[in-house]
Amino acid sequence: MPELPEVETIARGVDARVRGDCIVQVWFGSHREPFKTPPRQQAKGLEGCVLLAVHRTGKHIVCELGAASPDRERTGKASASPTAQWIVHLGMTGRLLVTTPEAPVAAHTHARLSLSSGRELRFVDPRRFGRLEFRDLGRNAPFTAPGAEPLTIELEEFAALFRGRRLAIKAALLNQSLLAGVGNIYADESLFRAGIRPRRMAGRLTRAELERLRTALRQVLKDAIRLGGSSVSDYVDADGVRGFFQLEHCVYMRTGLPCRHCGTPIRRILLAGRGTHYCPRCQT
Ligand SMILES: [Zn+2]
Repeated sequence: MPELPEVETIARGVDARVRGDCIVQVWFGSHREPFKTPPRQQAKGLEGCVLLAVHRTGKHIVCELGAASPDRERTGKASASPTAQWIVHLGMTGRLLVTTPEAPVAAHTHARLSLSSGRELRFVDPRRFGRLEFRDLGRNAPFTAPGAEPLTIELEEFAALFRGRRLAIKAALLNQSLLAGVGNIYADESLFRAGIRPRRMAGRLTRAELERLRTALRQVLKDAIRLGGSSVSDYVDADGVRGFFQLEHCVYMRTGLPCRHCGTPIRRILLAGRGTHYCPRCQT
């Protein structure tokens, strides 16, 4: 399942390829599941819009859309402020691809947006847990994701998330309504870097530990985004998220292997139903 760094990488890759493009024509598949907004309404809203920017909010990819006004035809510029948003949630298996129109259409393609540059933006999702939403900003507030943004959260807010919580810190990190986009890998790796055992009760962490955890989490996510960056073009043009699995993990899936810091074998436990990896010496 794509987590924050993967969604960020995809959003950046798509942004680099479609920014400034105009949506000329929209084709949607017949499966209903991906459409949070009815497909007809979505198509009507999307056609003629300019893609002003594509970015990540939480685990969602948000396409900021501008109305293609007569101004644009005259000046060649789109209005600066978005009038609508197209929100793509990848779910378990969703992919957002930028292709040429001639590229073979993959099975489970649910959306094809023809762009004025001649390219196509496609949404492919075999398991159909992904969602597409059209949001008219004239009638709705801009999209916000549930959960705080781990890359920019301030220490006060971060500490407040866990205050009084009687559950393991690992489980709290995975709770998407607290923090957006932190998955199993990044939870384990950030707890290792912060020197905190995953079973520790969230509400009992000291201020210093929370500060270390916030720093470690940001660093792990940034490292992952940086490594994912190398697979951006592969990903959007073809089919890989491979760059992500070459991450230099310290504990994740390293059960029994020596800790990179102290040599103690890495332990694996089950916590909140998830395989959880830690160093019994470095993490207290
Ligand atoms: Zn260690």
